[in-house]
Amino acid sequence: MTKYIVVVGGVLSGVGKGVASASIGKIMKENGFNVTCIKIDPYINCDAGTLRPTEHGEVWVTNDGGETDLDLGNYERFLDISIPKKNNITTGQVFREIIEKEREGHFLGETVQLIPHITDEIKRRIKDSSEGFDVSIIEIGGTVGDYENIPFLFAIKSLEKDIGRDNLVYVLVSYLPIPGHIDEMKTKPTQTAIKLLGENSIEADFILCRGKSPLDNVRKKKIETYANIKSDYVISAPDIIGKDKSNTIYSIPLNFEKEKLGDKLIDKLRLEKKKFADWEKWEILVNKIINPSKKIKIGLIGKYLDIGKYQLKDSYISVSEAIIHAAAHNDVKIEMVFLDSKKLEKDPNLLKDLDLNGIIIPGGFGSSGVEGKINAIKFTRENNIPFLGLCLGLQLSVVEFARNVCNLKGANSTEVNSNTKYPVIDILPEQKNIHSKGGTMRLGQYKAIVKGKVKELYGSEEVYERHRHRYEVNPDYHGVLSEKGLLFSGMSEDNRLVEFIEIPNHKFFIATQAHPEFKSSLMNPSPLFNGFVKACIATKTNMNYL
Ligand code: GLN
Repeated sequence: MTKYIVVVGGVLSGVGKGVASASIGKIMKENGFNVTCIKIDPYINCDAGTLRPTEHGEVWVTNDGGETDLDLGNYERFLDISIPKKNNITTGQVFREIIEKEREGHFLGETVQLIPHITDEIKRRIKDSSEGFDVSIIEIGGTVGDYENIPFLFAIKSLEKDIGRDNLVYVLVSYLPIPGHIDEMKTKPTQTAIKLLGENSIEADFILCRGKSPLDNVRKKKIETYANIKSDYVISAPDIIGKDKSNTIYSIPLNFEKEKLGDKLIDKLRLEKKKFADWEKWEILVNKIINPSKKIKIGLIGKYLDIGKYQLKDSYISVSEAIIHAAAHNDVKIEMVFLDSKKLEKDPNLLKDLDLNGIIIPGGFGSSGVEGKINAIKFTRENNIPFLGLCLGLQLSVVEFARNVCNLKGANSTEVNSNTKYPVIDILPEQKNIHSKGGTMRLGQYKAIVKGKVKELYGSEEVYERHRHRYEVNPDYHGVLSEKGLLFSGMSEDNRLVEFIEIPNHKFFIATQAHPEFKSSLMNPSPLFNGFVKACIATKTNMNYL
């Protein structure tokens, strides 16, 4: 029978529920359990595909073509498992299903209501995603007290009734602020969160106390008394990444284990460990992240960076994490420099002063900032600086090559300029008549047949990576591009679509139509990122890396 660990948030969003859930999942996996994770997002969108990255962070892509919340990425990176799209449940999906059923006549004569129809559908989806697993972690997005959470909390309570209280634990991830003017950690918002949970008849079994510093005994006692749980179950979870960025989120499961969280969860759920946790490999990688022997600097040229006065790096979280994974395996510290491509449009020389060891152009949509990215690609190509292009990064590399090497002046992607004389990147034929924007791109995992450096890096001729795009290298230009030296080092199985390109005599110039960042985990870094990081290190140390 599946046991459930329900993670809810109190006080404010962004306290690291996703990473806490992933860490709990990792701990359970290390104890031998077959684990899955579910993310509930109470918004009305049917999936995350149409959300602005600067609002919700990056859109994650699953093997089966889901465009989901980025927390599924946290789970995969920690647990090294593939999670299907059905594990991201949104209000939109649930209502759509019930409303469609109502129209089809499934409920003839009945009044269709929030309770039980919507809540039963939520429960059905949770059970369906959890079937066959020993442990299912359910993270409920948002914060207790949000109106939109209510049907989900009700559904969970009903699940608890169905399976019995011993088979489900509640973990509240809370936040304890330290207001600057009083310089004291306050427990009141956590007390309010406990009360709000109580209003939904839910009692937390564990409270993870996030905050700038660790929880002291006085505050632990206060929460223990207020929540009516033993202080053993009040877990301190202080910020681990300070200004110097010397720590890593991957040390969080290790920190939880110092408080024996795994044993306590196993005990509460009346489980028997299936094996003894072995953290050795994980610890080695965490130590390599914290105390690396070398340092390099990589630039990421993006455009989904600024919101108001702040920079939101979550728009590129999977790329940054894939770099961290590769860095851990190469014993190197990577300073990531996030650059707004629009700035490079105005001043293409900006890159020269940054002394970067490598440059990444990640995915993106629309025309803004594109010329800045093309400037950056030209710079890396001409100066033999390691370059990794991802999706839009491949498309713009082809545009740059067409313009500056093949002399096709004004070449472009039709996404950027529909009237370009040389449409080297064009919409996929099967996309031409699709007008709906939800879930209609070329999505999910596809096979590519590879050669060249790409084959060396993957160690295989067959490569499976995830995709999310509408545009492609235009077959009319394959000939001229390859005549001038661009190697199509990966093609789709039917030899129709370009999946990887490289420039052979360059230190490292590889781009892919796919998003290999979605398949990178701490234990298994992406081969492409791994090769790129090795090439960046080699640039710095003047070593040959392949
Ligand atoms: N906008 C481009 C396309 O749709 C690239 C998408 C991406 O980078 N994910 O093809």
